[in-house]
Amino acid sequence: MTPSHSAAPSFDALLQEVSQQAYPTATLYVVATPIGNAGDITLRAINALALADVVACEDTRNTGHLLSRYGLSKELLAAHEHNEREAAERIIGRLQAGQRVALVSDAGTPAVSDPGARIVDAVRAAGLRVSPLPGPSAAVAALSASGLLQDRFLFVGFLPAKAKQRETSLQHLASVQVTLVLYEAPHRIADTTAALLDVFGPQRQVVFARELTKLFEEIHRCPLGDAAAWLAADANRGKGEYVLLVDGAAEAVEEDEREAERILAILLEECSVKQAAALAARITGQKKNALYEQALAMKGGQ
Ligand code: SAM
Repeated sequence: MTPSHSAAPSFDALLQEVSQQAYPTATLYVVATPIGNAGDITLRAINALALADVVACEDTRNTGHLLSRYGLSKELLAAHEHNEREAAERIIGRLQAGQRVALVSDAGTPAVSDPGARIVDAVRAAGLRVSPLPGPSAAVAALSASGLLQDRFLFVGFLPAKAKQRETSLQHLASVQVTLVLYEAPHRIADTTAALLDVFGPQRQVVFARELTKLFEEIHRCPLGDAAAWLAADANRGKGEYVLLVDGAAEAVEEDEREAERILAILLEECSVKQAAALAARITGQKKNALYEQALAMKGGQ
């Protein structure tokens, strides 16, 4: 990044300000790291990593390499899904000795479909301070560039790998009315897309957010019915990292309205508008006045 001449003094001042902020000792810093592009690190994250006495990480080789991109070399402590409990004890020991510990994962935000939650829980239970350094997360990056209009979402993360369990999970999710956010490994993307089509049907919109922040970044939105063809159109689409966003189910309100209309239509064959509205209100639990208006409109349209 080359700041413009006029911006340079204030950017330098910001760098200085951030480096002089408080980074208390005896604190676990939960540090988000890039999801592909080393440039996506925050100023605070670099300062916290630079000040850390030890960096707890999923894979010491990956993290050692990432730190070297920022000119840092640190003691590393392995903290992955198979040793989270022991790692938590070691981290607590370091914090009790007054050290700063940074916790990172291989990419993005620790504890989001990544190890870290157990460590944070144990550290908090020991009465020690935990401070988040927010930054990249693939889910939020994908949502921000998806153009999906629903502003509520459900973070699902990884579906079960086994076909039967995956289908059961999807069936539970089929009626959820908010955007679903899924993570998927590249070798399962075609199977998962086929399972989504089976359970949700061809009309639902899906967004493939692939290789975000990297050279071959792609964001593609289509109905599930067209998704397999899109994946097959380029052999590279069988590789790379994906977030899948699936539009939520249609509003139940619309379904309720359709059901009320169906009931009113039957009742109007035999009853007056007033009686049909009263009976429909008892059957559906909806408001009699609104049903009366709806029945009047339906009668008028005949
Ligand atoms: N903690 C991470 C976060 O905050 O996003 C997620 C880690 S999870 C083990 C890895 C999954 O995140 C990948 O399988 C993929 O679904 C998603 N992911 C990570 N980086 C990505 C990227 N650059 N583009 C698209 N998806 C990505």
